[in-house]
Amino acid sequence: MTRVVHIIGAGLAGLSAAIKLCGRGEQVVVHEATAFAGGRCRSYHDASLGMTIDNGNHLLLSGNRAALGYLHEIGGADRLAGPDHAEFPFVDLKSNERWMLRFNDGRLPLWIFDAKRRVPGTQALDYLALARLLWAVPGEPVGKVIACDGVLYRRLVEPLLLAALNIDPPLGSAKLAGAIIRETLAAGGLACRPLIARDGLGETLIAPALATLQQRGAAVRFEHQLRAIQFGAGHIDALEFAGETIALAPEDAVILAVPPYTAAALVRELEVPTEFRAIVNAHFRIEPPPGQPRIIGVLNSTVEWLFAFPGRLSVTVSAGDRLIDTPREELAKTIWGEVARIAGVPVDPLPPWQIVRERRATFAATPEQDAKRPGAATSWRNLVLAGDWTNTGLPATIEGAIRSGNRAANLVVS
Ligand SMILES: Cc1cc2nc3c(=O)[nH]c(=O)nc-3n(C[C@H](O)[C@H](O)[C@H](O)COP(=O)(O)OP(=O)(O)OC[C@H]3O[C@@H](n4cnc5c(N)ncnc54)[C@H](O)[C@@H]3O)c2cc1C
Repeated sequence: MTRVVHIIGAGLAGLSAAIKLCGRGEQVVVHEATAFAGGRCRSYHDASLGMTIDNGNHLLLSGNRAALGYLHEIGGADRLAGPDHAEFPFVDLKSNERWMLRFNDGRLPLWIFDAKRRVPGTQALDYLALARLLWAVPGEPVGKVIACDGVLYRRLVEPLLLAALNIDPPLGSAKLAGAIIRETLAAGGLACRPLIARDGLGETLIAPALATLQQRGAAVRFEHQLRAIQFGAGHIDALEFAGETIALAPEDAVILAVPPYTAAALVRELEVPTEFRAIVNAHFRIEPPPGQPRIIGVLNSTVEWLFAFPGRLSVTVSAGDRLIDTPREELAKTIWGEVARIAGVPVDPLPPWQIVRERRATFAATPEQDAKRPGAATSWRNLVLAGDWTNTGLPATIEGAIRSGNRAANLVVS
């Protein structure tokens, strides 16, 4: 009998595992609780804006090799947009200074020796201190390893780590911060080109994956929530869905690619991260003015990154827990006031807007929470874990989710 691999959850971890397994001729069934795929990385039609938006602006980097491999395999890579070289415009809303951070393509960081390329107000030697993060040991917070002040910190390290770790950087895991530095600044400009899903996350990362799965004969069952797992001795016996129990043949396998709190409810004695951080996004329906960069970093403001899409300006605020209880109108007005200054457009009238607050956007990337991340293998030989919260060595990112999916698929076939 052909074995069946059941994948629970159609987020990027589940989808990437499914793509890998189908590519190797495995029979795959994906079970997704909701009516749509993508999980925390999805597009939807927003009635107040009258347009399709993403649940959050997602940034990839050209060095995200697993994410790019996945996109090539599903045929979505040409839907990413970004500059030919690693360039990041910044604006400081307090001083009104604007500058462009420009990495050189090679691995040798020549840009830190060039005052026109590096962060204004810094010296080449300042950057050396960041190397300490590369050798950080588990358990240490960033604030213990590097000094979290000074111009370089405020203008580069803080925005980079805040975006990547989604936590106030001094509290973040130095080991995870080190992984980010290793895969970005230390990897050279060719790994740091910012890439965004030009036509939205759904059209780029999700719809082509579903089409590929269909072509490869996989089944995707929506609104099919796993309610419980029947455990045997050293293996799992059956999957319980509402009104249906699927018994597993001895050769069948299950990849559980659900969020950590769901995994912990389904699998007894599973230790998982239990703290989370929010991400707040604000979307404004307005045509970006000519010359508006696709992405700009913003300092000394609520806005952290401003993205320009056709017909829309969108803002990301990481570790946005402090904004969760702010009334939506107040937040929209504050953020729009800043956006108008950044983009140089009139502040009146306030364009149609939407605020999207994802409370549990990522696990809290502290050393303590990082230590709770399990690996992919479990005590049950036919049950494997995937998800951005499993122990990938990266913070909760698209790249981490896809690496976890690939790793789970490899474990199943090994
Ligand atoms: C607002 C926001 C902005 C972000 N920005 C970035 C960014 O710029 N760059 C970046 O790299 N990353 C970013 N991320 C992180 C990225 O989105 C996630 O790391 C990634 O999408 C996680 O994928 P996943 O498959 O691990 O989990 P999820 O996307 O959570 O997928 C889990 C899936 O399991 C399903 N499920 C749950 N329970 C069950 C059940 N019982 N039965 C069946 N199915 C179930 C869920 O419905 C969901 O579809 C951002 C996240 C958010 C929320």
